[in-house]
Amino acid sequence: MPVNDDELPYLRRCVELAAEALESGDEPFGSVLVAGDGTVLAEDHNRVASGDRTRHPEFELARWSAAHLSPAERAAATVYTSGEHCPMCAAAHAWVGLGRIVYVASSEQLVSWLTELGVPSSPVRPLPVAEVAPGVTVAGPVPELADEVRELHRRFHRGRD
Ligand SMILES: [Zn+2]
Repeated sequence: MPVNDDELPYLRRCVELAAEALESGDEPFGSVLVAGDGTVLAEDHNRVASGDRTRHPEFELARWSAAHLSPAERAAATVYTSGEHCPMCAAAHAWVGLGRIVYVASSEQLVSWLTELGVPSSPVRPLPVAEVAPGVTVAGPVPELADEVRELHRRFHRGRD
């Protein structure tokens, strides 16, 4: 499933949100929830620096959608994100019945970048969304924005040394 050019602004906003997370000392991940008619409904970035490692933006958006949208609205919505959902977020996305996912960088790319940076592996296996939530339509990666996401992660992890 390809990514349309008119979707790039949402993905650019995800990268901006990831940069905002980095500026506030958090891991650079950002996500935007968009309704079926193209309206931006909610957005968030990573907030794990608080110490709660579950504060991923995709998880927050799944819970927001459960509280604010009907099942039909959730099914018609798309979640754009700077990095492919982790298994926790993919599961939350599927449990609340959200629609399509579009990501800039795949989990596979992220793992290879973090490995290059010497970052210890995550306590959760980096399964692709399709393995956790096979009913969810997924698009990505998006090469024209992936280098920017990679650079944000490089800055975050190099900055901590
Ligand atoms: Zn996650």
